[in-house]
Amino acid sequence: MSYDRYEILYLLRNAPAQTLDTNDHESGSSANNAFTECLNWARKHWRSVQIKKLSSYPYNSEIRRSDQTFCSVCLENFEFKQTVRKLGCSHEFHSQCVDKWLILKPTCPLCRAPL
Ligand SMILES: [Zn+2]
Ligand SMILES: [Zn+2]
Repeated sequence: MSYDRYEILYLLRNAPAQTLDTNDHESGSSANNAFTECLNWARKHWRSVQIKKLSSYPYNSEIRRSDQTFCSVCLENFEFKQTVRKLGCSHEFHSQCVDKWLILKPTCPLCRAPL
């Protein structure tokens, strides 16, 4: 069986989140490699769509939205006008830092809450 990438996306589009968030199958037999590759691609695509749905805002210390003043991924302080991404667990990170993380692992880097 061979799958077209878009066919996979179509199949997965309405799949429940857990289907795509279960363990990444790193190994897998060679026969399944093409499928796994497609599935991983679809997962990443799906995650990037989910990531775009998360809220983000330009940081402004004058209008504090939370007590967090730095990004736990790079450990740098949030600077004025940097884009801050707020996850569902209300932890905040630089969007450029956390987006890269979320593509690989759809959980909060701090508390591991799912996206
Ligand atoms: Zn950062
Ligand atoms: Zn969190």
